[in-house]
Amino acid sequence: MALIVQKYGGTSVGSVERIQAVAQRVSRTAQLGNSIVVVVSAMGKTTDGLVKLAADISPNPCRREMDMLLSTGEQVSIALLSMALQEIGQPAISLTGAQVGIVTEAEHTRARILNIETKRLKHCLEQGKVVVVAGFQGISNTDEFEITTLGRGGSDTSAVALAAALQADFCEIYTDVPGILTTDPRLVPEAQLMDEITCDEMLELASLGAKVLHPRAVEIARNYGVPLVVRSSWTDEPGTLVTAPPQLGRSLINLELARSVDNVEFDTNQARVALLRVPDKPGVAAHLFREIADQDVDVDLIIQSIHEGNTNDIAFTVFKPILNKAEAVASAIAPVLRTHPAMEGEEAEVMVQSNIAKVSIAGAGMIGRPGVAAKMFISLAEAGVNIQMISTSEVKVGCVIDSADCDKAVAALCQAFDIKSSPAPYAPHTPHTHPVRGVALDMKQARLAIRYVPDTSGMAAKIFGLLAQNNISVDTIIQSQRCHIVNDIPTRDIAFTVTRIDAELAQQILQQVATEYGWGEVALDNAIAKVSIVGAGMVGHPGIAAKMFEALAQHQINIQMITTSEIKTCCVVDEHQGVKALQVIHEAFGLAGSEKVQVPA
Ligand code: ADP
Ligand code: ASP
Ligand code: MG
Repeated sequence: MALIVQKYGGTSVGSVERIQAVAQRVSRTAQLGNSIVVVVSAMGKTTDGLVKLAADISPNPCRREMDMLLSTGEQVSIALLSMALQEIGQPAISLTGAQVGIVTEAEHTRARILNIETKRLKHCLEQGKVVVVAGFQGISNTDEFEITTLGRGGSDTSAVALAAALQADFCEIYTDVPGILTTDPRLVPEAQLMDEITCDEMLELASLGAKVLHPRAVEIARNYGVPLVVRSSWTDEPGTLVTAPPQLGRSLINLELARSVDNVEFDTNQARVALLRVPDKPGVAAHLFREIADQDVDVDLIIQSIHEGNTNDIAFTVFKPILNKAEAVASAIAPVLRTHPAMEGEEAEVMVQSNIAKVSIAGAGMIGRPGVAAKMFISLAEAGVNIQMISTSEVKVGCVIDSADCDKAVAALCQAFDIKSSPAPYAPHTPHTHPVRGVALDMKQARLAIRYVPDTSGMAAKIFGLLAQNNISVDTIIQSQRCHIVNDIPTRDIAFTVTRIDAELAQQILQQVATEYGWGEVALDNAIAKVSIVGAGMVGHPGIAAKMFEALAQHQINIQMITTSEIKTCCVVDEHQGVKALQVIHEAFGLAGSEKVQVPA
């Protein structure tokens, strides 16, 4: 007999017939002697409908009232599912988040779970009842006992958190697709089902736009070792297993707010090559990284900042012993780029720097917590360390700095994040047989660029500290390689992406202090799409990035920004080319299957 948490999404409970089908499935599993907690979402598109109603009344509704409104959707479906179970002879009881005791912080519309009371749940289970719990909602840890919600898509997070709190044998997420696929089947019907995927890979895919799982659900599964499966609620196929790393035995107190950083890592064996003023047109990155891959040079970080005029800068880091080889390739390409018609007299230039180090903080608790990266930048600034390049992923923030600063940077970070164990030298992930597992598209991002930011320590800390104070999460941070002298001070551009909802506020906040800090214009571009490849086996496979860039070049898709981490490569392209970009990249990596996935409308 097992204790199982099952979660059914909106489409899976979208009609009376679907609710009855879910009841049948739940009762079959219960009849086998299992104890079951079921988490449900609101029916079909109910939550979207409620959001629209609110928008019709107010352009900027109060977040507390939004929680009051949106939490009603789930209350309807728990009652109906419970009735459907009782109707077929299965004892059941429905409970709201508050009735269970899903205690959250008082952050309306994006609350994090602090702890879950299990007493009432266990009592109901002992009575042989199926407990049907409202997903996506909780109760604040304040005297007012406010109703809170976890953020859109948050029922997945409720389910995995309940499984962690109850130490369930497994958590099953039932949805409208067969499991986790190589990409969204609504955009690429030939997407293939994966039998398994690691939590780290899934965290990236989920955060980069694959909405099949809420990123915070994956974070909890990873931190607490919850056995997690994603399956179709229409069939009995096994679906996809999401595998967690070995467990650290975490406390269940402050479930989603416990330690944000597990490790400080460093790597002093890296060197940087930058190509300045390359033409801003399709095919340039593809050409460069194809030549590099053909020389069997493995590239670690790749960064392409926003264009200036007709040109861009591309920088990458390599393992120090192969720096000469990488430099030779870049130098051989530079003259070819120089003769390009788009250059209008500008010259490409190769810059090499071998005295660099990479310091990183790692841990799954950073997701959606902008304060963590900001704290890293602030600690480095206080230690007087200038940041040359930044790379961000969901579970890691890495900064390239001068190698002479490495020791003090590591010491500052260990102190800031209370890391007592000795910092780990950088260790690559265990390669998977398929270097690229999935492709994701995020059409809900905007790009902000601050021009002419003085190149002194503390600037990243100021920018991202300010945004963090306003709870704005930032992704894909890029500093230009090119230096401009403004009033005798060297400056660089800093660009990054935020969700579109936060974009205007972020722009306003930064504009307010731009003059004081000596920055130039703060430009906003909403018309972007972010397309990413993810796979833990990408490290040690030269040519993966080149293949992605070539696929885009062949379809005349210009890359506006590039950023990578160890397990992802991410390109910003024009919004209108986003879907096409996803499709051609999926195709280029041979991820398509022979059969089309059937997806409910
Ligand atoms: P639910 O209501 O069950 O929570 P969601 O709509 O939130 O369902 O998530 C399921 C949807 O996620 C699928 O219908 C699919 O369109 C989309 N999706 C995006 N990327 C992927 C992917 N890599 N694998 C599977 N589904 C994906
Ligand atoms: N009903 C909520 C939403 O639509 C939560 C969920 O479905 O996960 O976002
Ligand atoms: Mg969902």
